Amino acid sequence: MADLHALLQSAKCVLFDFDGPICRLFHGHPPAQVADRMRLRLAELGEPDLRTEVAGHQDPYRVLGHVAHAPGRDAAAIALEQLLTREELAAVQTAEPTDDVAELIRRLVESGRQIAVTTNNSERSVRAYLHRKGLARWFGPHIHGRTADAKHLKPDPHCLHRALASTRAAPEETVMIGDTAADLQAARTAGVSFVGFAASPHATAFGTGRADLVVHGMAELLNGATPPPTPPLPPDR
Ligand SMILES: [Mg+2]
Repeated sequence: MADLHALLQSAKCVLFDFDGPICRLFHGHPPAQVADRMRLRLAELGEPDLRTEVAGHQDPYRVLGHVAHAPGRDAAAIALEQLLTREELAAVQTAEPTDDVAELIRRLVESGRQIAVTTNNSERSVRAYLHRKGLARWFGPHIHGRTADAKHLKPDPHCLHRALASTRAAPEETVMIGDTAADLQAARTAGVSFVGFAASPHATAFGTGRADLVVHGMAELLNGATPPPTPPLPPDR
C-alpha cells in the first residue's frame, strides 16, 4: 500500500468517479426500479430476447452494457441510454452528497491541482448535480461521462483517456478515486494510481490489496490536498 499523504501530495491531477465518491446518486431513486423500466422499454421496442437475457440484472448499467454489446442492437442501446439519462436526471433531485467531498474538491483546486470527473453516468446528470451543489465551477469542462456509444462504459478506460487529454495530465501524475472493481480496472489500464473509496454503498468489489490505497471517508484525503512543499531557499553566500 502506498502512503496516502505522499500519493496525493505528488498528484497533479485527481479523477473522481461520480456515484459514490461525489454523491449517492440513487439515494432516493432505486436503481433496481430503473432496471425494471429498462426491461419494460426493451419489451416495447420488440426485443423480448434481450429482455430475457437481462432479466436478473438489478444494476441498470449492467443492463445497458449488455444491450450495447449485443450485435445489431444499436437502436435498442440508444433508446436505453436515453432512458437511463432521464432516470439519472430524476435521481439528481434526491442525490445525497458524500461527506467532506466538497471540501476536498475545493482544496485540490486551490492547491493548484487539476480535477475531472470520470464516470459511467451521463455528463448531463453530473453537470446538473454539480450545479445544484455549487461545485460545477471547480470542474469546468472536465466532466467525462458516458457517451452515446455505451460500449465504452468502465472498465473500458475511455472516459479516463478523455480526462487525461482534456487536463493534459500525465498518467503517472494522476490519481483516480473510485468505488468499484470497474473503476480500478479502468485506472490500471490507463496507468493512473487508484484510491478505493470503501465507504460507498457500491464498494464491495475491489480487493483492498489491489488498490494503491483504500479510504473510508474523504476526510482521510484532506491532509494530502495541501500545496506541495516548497523546496528551501539556498543559503546566502
Ligand atoms: Mg461509482
